[in-house]
Amino acid sequence: MASSTAINHPLYASLSPKLSLSNSSDRLQPPAAVSLRSSSSVSPSYVELTWTANSGLTAAVARARVATRSRICASSAAQVMDTETGVSGAPTPTIVEVDLGDRSYPIYIGSGLLDQPELLQRHVHGKRVLIVTNTTVAPLYLDKVVEALTKGNPNVLVDSVILPDGEKYKNMETLMKVFDKAIESRLDRRCTFVALGGGVIGDMCGFAAAAFLRGVNFIQIPTTVMAQVDSSVGGKTGINHPLGKNLIGAFYQPQCVLIDTGTLNTLPDRELASGLAEVVKYGLIRDAEFFEWQEKNMKALMARDPSALAYAIKRSCENKAEVVSLDEKESGLRATLNLGHTFGHAIETGFGYGQWLHGEAVAAGTVMAVDMSYRLGWIDDSIVNRVRSILEQANLPTAPPDTMTVEMFKSVMAVDKKVADGLLRLILLKGPLGNCVFTGDYDRKALDETLRSFCKS
Ligand code: NAD
Repeated sequence: MASSTAINHPLYASLSPKLSLSNSSDRLQPPAAVSLRSSSSVSPSYVELTWTANSGLTAAVARARVATRSRICASSAAQVMDTETGVSGAPTPTIVEVDLGDRSYPIYIGSGLLDQPELLQRHVHGKRVLIVTNTTVAPLYLDKVVEALTKGNPNVLVDSVILPDGEKYKNMETLMKVFDKAIESRLDRRCTFVALGGGVIGDMCGFAAAAFLRGVNFIQIPTTVMAQVDSSVGGKTGINHPLGKNLIGAFYQPQCVLIDTGTLNTLPDRELASGLAEVVKYGLIRDAEFFEWQEKNMKALMARDPSALAYAIKRSCENKAEVVSLDEKESGLRATLNLGHTFGHAIETGFGYGQWLHGEAVAAGTVMAVDMSYRLGWIDDSIVNRVRSILEQANLPTAPPDTMTVEMFKSVMAVDKKVADGLLRLILLKGPLGNCVFTGDYDRKALDETLRSFCKS
């Protein structure tokens, strides 16, 4: 049975609890290991899940044939997405559905979508909207989003809260600024929160929406590659704790995700590259064809070729949507989206939030996970070389910063969310390109060797 918990805000201390988290009990026990193999040709259409108990013995084998829906297309390398033009002259967005029963929602992808008010307005409930953004994104896109929300819709009242910019502000203190604004503005349960910005804003706004009045509507308008290909989709929201990244949060799905690819025109090169680390991830864990496409098109992506970027965003969203639809609360399959993240989070936490961008840490972490997979004898060296090469092409780091020590990695990895019963489970590649496992059943020596080979002390 669902239960709810709550705390008070100073403005309403004497009233009933206002800030809360719905907490539906998660009955699924995380399996110790899940291996994932995609079928040979059309990668996303067929997956085999092998659930392995802690003992390392296979407890059950479940085969799931996932119907290839028209929206999930395994396109050939040469294909790129064109935004078509509708009858009204406005570009028709590509739509990827996240299929979650009564919590399903569309991801709209296309250039100029912020100029189509009806797309946003159809997902706004009630008459009050709070836009959550930051000091960098507000001057660029806040007016445009206010216009999109209010054009032809004078009854809607839009407030905004502009947060300081940066991963180091993804914390409880900044989160409180969102609650302060919402409560000062007397927002009620029928309001909608809109996240306008990169992954930091999306994660914080989503968590605020999950907690405010025990949950209000929310919309994602991601404006970085990282957020457009990954963080805005799937409902993971939260903040960092000084001892570990994203340790406080909730699963909370948006009403829709609106990706206006035109917003990437103002994104700095380093941020663009950071987002591409997650694009590479999808290819490695489940979509070999997409990885091969990236090998041929990384230059075009780095040069911001609009068709190449649009295709990479669409294909990434399709992959993420499919994984989330199969395993919303991360009981196994969804964890595979964290390839390289356990090492990467250790870098972000150990080195200091914001020193390296999230995607940069994930890139170095991916190289470490791949190195460990090779030491275990699970992949051949051609994959190791291809991973290094594609990340180098994207100007991403392929090793952790010099200051990271084996001990720093170990102490941060010990509080990773994927630790279960004291056992650190990792996502490692196994078999041909496009296959991975999520497992705690590996030789500890390989992890030690990987850490020692990448750290000076
Ligand atoms: P970010 O949100 O810090 O954005 C990067 C920088 O780009 C910021 O300075 C931002 O202000 C600026 N910016 C954003 N849009 C811009 C634009 N269009 N033009 C110019 N500047 C712009 O970082 P990010 O890489 O987008 O996201 C990283 C965060 O996402 C991390 O906190 C990570 O943990 C989280 N994340 C979450 C998930 C998830 O599933 N929830 C998945 C991946 C990453």
